[in-house]
Amino acid sequence: MRRIYFDYAATTPIDLEVIKTMSQYYTKTFGNPSSIHYFGRKALYGIEKSRQIISSFINAELDEIVFTSGGTESNNYALKGIIYANRNRGNHLITSAIEHHSIIEPCKYLQRQGIKVTYLKVDKYGLVDPQDVKKAITNKTVLISIMYANNEIGVIQPIKEIGRIARDKGVYFHTDAVQSFGHLPTAVDELNVDLLSASSHKLYGPKGVGMLYIRKGMRIMSFMHGGDQENGRRASTYNVPGIVGFGKAVELARDKMGDERRKLTSLRDKLIDGILNNIEQTRLNGHPFTRLPNNVNVSVGSVEGEALVLNLDMEGIACSTGSACTSSSLEPSHVLLALGLSPELAHGSLRFTLGRYTKDEEIDYTLDVLRRIVNKLRSMSPLYKGRG
Ligand SMILES: *Cc1c(COP(=O)(O)O)cnc(C)c1O
Repeated sequence: MRRIYFDYAATTPIDLEVIKTMSQYYTKTFGNPSSIHYFGRKALYGIEKSRQIISSFINAELDEIVFTSGGTESNNYALKGIIYANRNRGNHLITSAIEHHSIIEPCKYLQRQGIKVTYLKVDKYGLVDPQDVKKAITNKTVLISIMYANNEIGVIQPIKEIGRIARDKGVYFHTDAVQSFGHLPTAVDELNVDLLSASSHKLYGPKGVGMLYIRKGMRIMSFMHGGDQENGRRASTYNVPGIVGFGKAVELARDKMGDERRKLTSLRDKLIDGILNNIEQTRLNGHPFTRLPNNVNVSVGSVEGEALVLNLDMEGIACSTGSACTSSSLEPSHVLLALGLSPELAHGSLRFTLGRYTKDEEIDYTLDVLRRIVNKLRSMSPLYKGRG
């Protein structure tokens, strides 16, 4: 059966060039980078080359990059590490209501430890207002963490402006850039960020590797204690093939970014327009153009998102939903609810995320299949009051 993948925000396949670069680091160049002999030095060279590529991609210094096991670890490290190392400065953290679970859950954990957390509201497009950030800052605020681009609705936040406010007030600023990394320009000095998280498997690199950018001079507590890897900031033997693959993936993303963005934006808009113009009772979630080039999120009235996903999967199309009727949590997506969507519309949401291997004809095919499935489900639904 023909299979079409529209879930690039969940993960991406590894680019074959990345695999090629990684493979020798499993068998030939397998040394421990902390060893001083030939095998160790060769592996260390691979790590440092990756560090070079990634630090120059974000305009940072080499020793401002710490390799981690992924976006989740980077986010946990940033939040807990900064809060614990700066308890004498205050006990307040500001974030948004639409962050990824790897920010929301560490925040809830910190609240249980006595830290005060402000979850800023967003507007109907999902945007954080920088003035709201300014108003929320108190003399106890230590850290602001606002994501660069959202994983569900693709909305891109005004990071520069928020960063400028944070700097003026002397508050540290972290951004979860996992979804934007490789799609959007990410020079840390232009974004005014002090900490930035990225993950390799969201940009055609291997799973289980990521990085945290930490601006020089920051006070941050490590929570992996052991060997002195990464200058003692993150103990454990380096994931050499993973880090090398991450570097190669960033190099490819850097070289392809402009072309890829143009291609994806046009496919994205074709899919959005096709859905909104040809299927009744549909609406776009997120901002019409301040959004990631590969993100489509729509709500389809009078149908269940999970029914749509399962029916699309039977026709070979893989996408996702913010609905959660059959999974462990019954609540629809916190992101969609924060936009002010009714629970019914949140349950009828569908997310298509496009990527490097998406083809134009796959969009045409998907539009045909989706229309047919929506009609079928609505014809069986007592909720549907349209012309159907
Ligand atoms: C995927 C994702 C993460 C988590 O990254 P992992 O490497 O899978 O741990 C964090 N934040 C956002 C916005 C993501 O999309």
